Amino acid sequence: MIVREVKLKNGTKEQYSALDEAILTAQFIRNKAVRLWMDSKGTGKADLYKLCKDLAKEFPFAKKLNSSARQASVERAWNSIASFYARCKKGEKKKGYPTFKKHCRSVEYKVSGWKVSPDAMTINFTDGFEAGTFSLFCNNETREDILTLKINRVRVVRKADGYHAQFCFDADRKEEGEYTGNVVGLDIGLKYFTKDQNDIAVVYPQFLRKAERQLKKAQRRLSKKFVKGAKPQSQNYHKARKGLAKIHLKIQRQRKDWAIKQARCVVASNDVVVYEYLKIANMVKNHHLAKSISDAAWYQYTQWLDYYGKIWDKVVVAVSPNYTSQDCSGCGQRAKKALSTRTHSCPCCGLEICRDTNAALNILRKGMNILGVEYQNGTFGQKESAHD
Ligand SMILES: [Zn+2]
Repeated sequence: MIVREVKLKNGTKEQYSALDEAILTAQFIRNKAVRLWMDSKGTGKADLYKLCKDLAKEFPFAKKLNSSARQASVERAWNSIASFYARCKKGEKKKGYPTFKKHCRSVEYKVSGWKVSPDAMTINFTDGFEAGTFSLFCNNETREDILTLKINRVRVVRKADGYHAQFCFDADRKEEGEYTGNVVGLDIGLKYFTKDQNDIAVVYPQFLRKAERQLKKAQRRLSKKFVKGAKPQSQNYHKARKGLAKIHLKIQRQRKDWAIKQARCVVASNDVVVYEYLKIANMVKNHHLAKSISDAAWYQYTQWLDYYGKIWDKVVVAVSPNYTSQDCSGCGQRAKKALSTRTHSCPCCGLEICRDTNAALNILRKGMNILGVEYQNGTFGQKESAHD
């Protein structure tokens, strides 16, 4: 599923506070659902749906919220309950017992309670809160997705710089893709953002590094203004807090835009893209790696690879990362090496190349095996001519 975020503009103060009320109501319903589950043993999803109806009868403001949005709120509660059960079953240390939310920032609508104008320039919220019509502020690609794709959900999110609508859809738009005859295997790494089998690296851009320095500065500014035990904190503290939040948002967006552009570029210039499936949750546990990983927005990147692959009818494959950096791409010999070893030198066949390029070659071969295509020595489907 793909999410496109659009800014909601040109609303009056009253309209925005109507959105706030809807968000508060969604939070209220979610918390009520958690409460019910805590209080009565054996509460299931069906009971929560029933609770939805009861709440609407009991509280007039709950009735104002669109009925499917009410359902979405209890589904949220159910998600946190279900994942709590799942963690218990797995015997994980941190069980994450469902708790009440105090500062929800969003409300989720399904397919009703809102209406997008035929040109996708405005959206109208039609439920009991009567938030009314807002302009949709976004780029053309996003607008086209809103016009052409089937929207499954609309989330209204309050952020540091205003209100946004997130449109969620399945990527089933089709476009004519240009076929190039190229295949690519991508190693997603720490030193580079990606490196392919031809030794071509994409580096994480300087402007994002710069933005991160800005972020650190703002964080220091904030912590200087924090007075321990003071309640409430000073005006200046809150000013600094909001400033920091805005910088965070800006970086998030820049990073996302950059990841999307990279993904678009790679899928546009190749017919087959193979990348390795990363268990990011596992890797973030390792503190040394953590920063670079979350920085690099890999997850977003891989999601957009899939997205463009679907749209342009190209093959995008994820392979398991096991041994991709250890196996020799020349002879297949497995040789263990530390993360700090930057070159791959094979004791068996004497191959000496960059470790990431070696990994990219292995990844590409793995992907080709899945697809059932022979891949050898950089030629794709022309194995016989290379030898005779
Ligand atoms: Zn070798």
